[in-house]
Amino acid sequence: MKNKITLLILSIITSCGDVGISPELQEDLSYLEEALGISVSYDMRIGPLDGAAAARCYRYPVKRVVIDIEKIKAAGDSLRLVMLHEIGHCSFDVRGHEETSLKEVGCPTHIMESSNKQIRCEKYIGQYISQLKNN
Ligand SMILES: [Zn+2]
Repeated sequence: MKNKITLLILSIITSCGDVGISPELQEDLSYLEEALGISVSYDMRIGPLDGAAAARCYRYPVKRVVIDIEKIKAAGDSLRLVMLHEIGHCSFDVRGHEETSLKEVGCPTHIMESSNKQIRCEKYIGQYISQLKNN
């Protein structure tokens, strides 16, 4: 009996701590977690998405982010900025989008804009991170 309870407790602990992150996302995720001062506690995986979306935060049935890395590469977008945007939805609970004017062509003024996030816009990442932290 005691062994069964111990096993049950162990399986609960390990299932809760098992966050699935695709290896290709780990480096950018670690950077973003440190910069934002948070720890992502949901799955973030690479996978195909239907329609135009290149990434998506799902809230149900379990919170998770799916990133269509092929679309991001094809658009010349920044994986790090797309991940930051999805973290805004999933970790900072931003439901909609901020639609402001573009800072420059292809670069949003606010990280929660729905517009594309080109690789060269990574120079604004400090500003984007502050926007989420002060959200
Ligand atoms: Zn969005």
